[in-house]
Amino acid sequence: MIRGSCHCGAVTFELSETPKWLTECNCSICRRIGALWAHASIEKVKVNYPEDGTVDYICGDRTLVTKSCRTCGCTTHWENLKDPRDGHMAVNCRMADPKDIADLRIRRFDGAETWAFVEDE
Ligand SMILES: [Zn+2]
Repeated sequence: MIRGSCHCGAVTFELSETPKWLTECNCSICRRIGALWAHASIEKVKVNYPEDGTVDYICGDRTLVTKSCRTCGCTTHWENLKDPRDGHMAVNCRMADPKDIADLRIRRFDGAETWAFVEDE
C-alpha cells in the first residue's frame, strides 16, 4: 500500500499494491512535472478529490489525461482515455512519504526518443 496526497491534501490516492518499480520518464510532460510514476491497473488505485478539484491536461495523441490539484497545483496521477475499463493508470509517487518509496527501484524511461527503459548497468 502506498498513500499519496497533493501538498494541500485535497487530492489523495491509495495504491493497494507495492509497485515493482517506479518510472522516471523524460518525455516532454514528465520531465516538466518531475513525476515518479507508479503504473498500476485501475482496480488497484483509489483516487479521491472533490468535484472540480483537479485541473485536467490532455496533450499530444490524447491517450491520457494528467490530473493536478486545482488548489496547490501538484500533479497527482494520470488516467487512460483510450480504454479506461481495461486500462492502466499511474500515480505520482512524489506525492508519497519518501520513507514509503525509499526501497523501490527507480527505472528511467526514455519517453522522449526510444520509448524504452534505459537499463542501468
Ligand atoms: Zn492540493
